[in-house]
Amino acid sequence: MWYAMTETDSSADEREKMVRLQIKARGVRDPEVLAAMQKIPRHLFVPEDCERSAYEDRPLPIGEGQTISQPYIVAVMTEQLELQPGDRVLEVGAGSGYQAALLAELAGSVISIERLEGLADRARENLARAGITGVRVVVGDGTEGYPPEAPYDAIIITAASPGVPQPLIDQLAEGGRLIAPIGPRDCQDLIKLVKHEGRVERTSLGGVCFVPLIGQFGWRGEDP
Ligand code: SAM
Repeated sequence: MWYAMTETDSSADEREKMVRLQIKARGVRDPEVLAAMQKIPRHLFVPEDCERSAYEDRPLPIGEGQTISQPYIVAVMTEQLELQPGDRVLEVGAGSGYQAALLAELAGSVISIERLEGLADRARENLARAGITGVRVVVGDGTEGYPPEAPYDAIIITAASPGVPQPLIDQLAEGGRLIAPIGPRDCQDLIKLVKHEGRVERTSLGGVCFVPLIGQFGWRGEDP
């Protein structure tokens, strides 16, 4: 069996500490984001051998060389999306499904794209186990976006790209927000784009390190 911790154990206390010490203390203030991070059982989104570390201040391996991001970075990115109930959201890089679960808690419909089929299957299982509805996990190259459901009020890329894929900019709605780690393979700049009258305004949110976004409009293949 993958997961041993249950909701009757200490996970709610661990989440409360995670939110207070790792997230609120570092400046994330949006009460809806803090409440969502308090609510979503992160331990249901990590492999069993990492479960005891699920609420620690670091990324964790989720298989196939990929990671679930550090809780603080997840919180910052989520806050910067400025989600409203009913928003249509696209996530590129479903991974474990944890970020998608938060998006579903705060917005309307969520499409989450994952290029690795095994991870997509696991993300669907994790979301179901956590009782999250409102997320559709799709297998594909997320650098191309997902045109059937565009435009999106918010787009989050959870893997590092050398530039913002143009299809994602095209699929952003007027007034829409896009958050992404952009830059070289080793470390990147977390950036925010906001679309106004068809043009995007870009701001920098600081340094981050993510696994690469592999695809037609990201990194090509696994080579540097
Ligand atoms: N958001 C995830 C979570 O909550 O667990 C963590 C994402 S992990 C840091 C990055 C993910 O992006 C990996 O699962 C990787 O396979 C995926 N990925 C990389 N390139 C992709 C692409 N072109 N399209 C979709 N997913 C991609």
